[in-house]
Amino acid sequence: MTQGQQTESTPLVDPACYAAATAAIRAEAVRLLEAGEVTAVVGYRAGRRAGSAMPEVATTAEAAAQLIFTPGCQNNLALFLSKAKREALPKGKVAVVVKGCDLRALAGLIGESQLKRDEVHVIGVACPGVYGAGADLAKPLAAESLARKCRECKVHLPEGTDVVAGTLPPLPDLAPLEAEELARLEAMTPQERWAFWTEQFARCIRCLACRQVCPFCFCTQCLCDRNRPQAVDTSPRPAGNTAWHIVRAMHLAGRCAGCAECERVCPMDIPLNLLNRKMAQELFELYGFETTMQPQEQGALTSYRDGDDQSFIK
Ligand code: SF4
Ligand code: SF4
Ligand code: SF4
Repeated sequence: MTQGQQTESTPLVDPACYAAATAAIRAEAVRLLEAGEVTAVVGYRAGRRAGSAMPEVATTAEAAAQLIFTPGCQNNLALFLSKAKREALPKGKVAVVVKGCDLRALAGLIGESQLKRDEVHVIGVACPGVYGAGADLAKPLAAESLARKCRECKVHLPEGTDVVAGTLPPLPDLAPLEAEELARLEAMTPQERWAFWTEQFARCIRCLACRQVCPFCFCTQCLCDRNRPQAVDTSPRPAGNTAWHIVRAMHLAGRCAGCAECERVCPMDIPLNLLNRKMAQELFELYGFETTMQPQEQGALTSYRDGDDQSFIK
């Protein structure tokens, strides 16, 4: 990392690094489809708005030649690789374009037997960062428009992929806003934390966008949709909202890849990734567990070791 004369509005990196990644992705995708090594490549194509991108399932060399990698490539494409979602893809081996944070989700899906490593050709991308929620996509990526997760990213370069597209340019050191936010949360008393989250959850409209975009919310029947018997009130009222968020946080504890997609798509600006990070921190402190780019068969809450902390049992 180099410091330089970086301000919040200075372009973060030379856009040529995204163009180089785009060229490498296209070349690999076209090669794979023409050679018949895969039936589809799950990647990104340009969206309708300037600077935006959207998921694309390319099944022809022509479509593969339109794939892109830009700061607008926010979606976590591992979402499309759970067993249920793959039913919508062509049969056979598929390729997928992943950033480092997406690769942690892909590894998690493999660890949870949602797919096998040899069923997917992984095209990793050297990723300087993507736009955050609400960014002006028509402007070059800058610190002020960078996703907060990218400010303290440790996985710019994916590991263990079949190929890596692009190279990583020097990146500036930026204030770690998420770490600072977590520290502020940690400094609160339990009563203050409860009041903080109660206020956040009260805004939830139960649109469930956070669930739909999460690679790990792949249950065909969500407990929170059931009404016979009803486990969680489905209307957006305070008690049901709190129950929904507790169920969600516990279900994802030790599985969440930290892609922050849930937070990005939330229309009510609820800091879901702060809750995800808090849970990840607890699991690391209690069990020394953290998600990685390698599949792990058992998570912290699905395994038991002699000596596991049990102080929470009263
Ligand atoms: S967290 Fe890292 S890998 Fe993920 S989008 Fe940001 S910079 Fe890229
Ligand atoms: S996306 Fe936001 S508003 Fe919608 S259910 Fe999730 S937390 Fe609630
Ligand atoms: S809970 Fe949010 S941050 Fe974690 S994997 Fe799901 S979408 Fe990504």
